[in-house]
Amino acid sequence: MIVIFKQKPLEEILGYLASDKSVFLLRCSGCSKVNQVDAESDLKVLKENIKDKGISITGSAIKGLLCIKAMSVLEELTESIGNPSSILVMACGLGVQSIAEATDKVVHPACNSFIDKESLGRGKREDRCLTCGDCVLEFTGGICPLTVCSKGLLNGPCGGSSGNKCEISKEIDCGWIIIYERMKKLGRLKVLMSFLSPKDFRIYKKRR
Ligand code: SF4
Ligand code: SF4
Repeated sequence: MIVIFKQKPLEEILGYLASDKSVFLLRCSGCSKVNQVDAESDLKVLKENIKDKGISITGSAIKGLLCIKAMSVLEELTESIGNPSSILVMACGLGVQSIAEATDKVVHPACNSFIDKESLGRGKREDRCLTCGDCVLEFTGGICPLTVCSKGLLNGPCGGSSGNKCEISKEIDCGWIIIYERMKKLGRLKVLMSFLSPKDFRIYKKRR
């Protein structure tokens, strides 16, 4: 099973950065050849487009396997990252989630993740990103609502959430409370008020 990530429309990314003074760009060189192609030119073009909008870029880097090496990548880059308002991550949903988990900074997703349909049903399934094709991590503090919430709700919590626990079991934390706490910590509760539209199932290819 191969996960492909593709850059979101530029206007969407610039919208994410609208209130940021500066940003650091981090591109994953990917786990598959598909994602490694054009990494340098993708990053260069995006950097130029962001600079054109007057947003300062503290630096950029291309690193492999952000999904499993987020902590060590951030440690390695401590000095070059500087002190930007945010980190813009060009990676699959799992890579973005891993970076968001490893830093206190605001993390923006620059890409949407898809599953390569030729590889459906093969390989290991990663449960933290369902490759929905329209990543919403921007609005949920880098935590995927499709996987952290038992019902995969895009707008939560549901009425069953009680004492921070999920209604399906007292052993499970409510995913939407986890998202709320992360957004509160980031000072982004206002963003959490955005309504997330239903998924477009023409691009969200369910895995078999
Ligand atoms: S919203 Fe969730 S499932 Fe969709 S691409 Fe982002 S991390 Fe993956
Ligand atoms: S209680 Fe929380 S995690 Fe459980 S289904 Fe409702 S919103 Fe989702």
